[in-house]
Amino acid sequence: MNLIDRIVQFQADIQAIRRDIHAHPELCFEENRTADVVAQQLTKWGIPIHRGLGKTGVVGTITAGTSRRAIGLRADMDALPLQEHNQFEHKSQHAGKMHACGHDGHTAMLLGAAKYLAEHRNFDGAIHLIFQPAEEGGGGADAMIKDGLFEKFPCDAVFGMHNWPGSPVGTFGVAPGPMMASSNEFEITITGKGAHAALPHNGIDPVMVAVSIAQNLQTLITRNKKPIDAAVLSITQIHAGDAYNIIPNEAVLRGTVRTFSTPVLDQIESGMRRIVEHSAAALGAQAALRFHRNYPPTVNHAKEALFAAEVMKEVVGAENVLTDVEPTMGAEDFAFMLLAKPGCYFFIGNGDGAHRESGHGIGPCMLHNPSYDFNDALIPIGATLWVRLAERFLG
Ligand SMILES: [Zn+2]
Ligand SMILES: [Zn+2]
Repeated sequence: MNLIDRIVQFQADIQAIRRDIHAHPELCFEENRTADVVAQQLTKWGIPIHRGLGKTGVVGTITAGTSRRAIGLRADMDALPLQEHNQFEHKSQHAGKMHACGHDGHTAMLLGAAKYLAEHRNFDGAIHLIFQPAEEGGGGADAMIKDGLFEKFPCDAVFGMHNWPGSPVGTFGVAPGPMMASSNEFEITITGKGAHAALPHNGIDPVMVAVSIAQNLQTLITRNKKPIDAAVLSITQIHAGDAYNIIPNEAVLRGTVRTFSTPVLDQIESGMRRIVEHSAAALGAQAALRFHRNYPPTVNHAKEALFAAEVMKEVVGAENVLTDVEPTMGAEDFAFMLLAKPGCYFFIGNGDGAHRESGHGIGPCMLHNPSYDFNDALIPIGATLWVRLAERFLG
């Protein structure tokens, strides 16, 4: 591996910051202490900062030379509402909150890169270090953009990195095109007419309507869209009634839809409206659909994905870079940045969990698991990648 010696030298300092952030997790848009830590470090290294975009976001800018070109490097800072099972020294000190997605590590890796870049400035242009809040469902990236992120800090391209448990340390994964799916929630409320269960002819049974809608909705996935367009529709809740002998008035279905493209999502949403309305009408009931779009699909721009892959190969060797990584149906709010600017999102292997210190929980070291911990061995790898990516982009 071609790690930057200077980063390896100060790795322990960045690791200490990572563990401090891990011990003090903060949820969506509450990352005040974390933003303070980031701001203090950047200021200490002579990097001018801007605070308050997306409430708790921090942007640091490092400049060199005369070029007007600029690159954005993004890390997320928020934690999850989860009780940590690990008992090692840097475990969460905030009950019910935990850095179980490794955003503590993402913040640390970008800080490591910032320190080196501020010291060496071996590039021509501007590097905007974007520390965003609220990736876990709050749309912090979107909030920063709406607050003028790219007007205040124009970027020719933006890049985002996420640790990936299960992939070996020292590997990267990237691909042009879709990396993660759009995430959307729906709720269907069916109104029938309650009756005695022995006298169904006096009522309109919303349970039968719910069953009919649940079955018909799956045809949108199997019979309506092109088979090669990936999508999933999962009904995760069906609620109706609370007695053996009463036909209830109402039934509610809830669930999620994921797609890799917005036109496919449009098609599924309009198909749902049609099926919900007419399935209910066919059985004499009424039904209403509430459909909420959370995150758009995360779609890498081909040129930037190829560029990032080349830099990864320089750092860890071609054999350790997977350039056709399989997309996942998870979602990521970096999608909003990729709608606004060219760029790409990629994975850095977090290993199999063997790095965890004694006292970790019995669960697997997977994202959103209470026994997860970010692998500190990634700090010099991720920080080196950020540095080389910025230096090459602004070379
Ligand atoms: Zn997460
Ligand atoms: Zn995450």
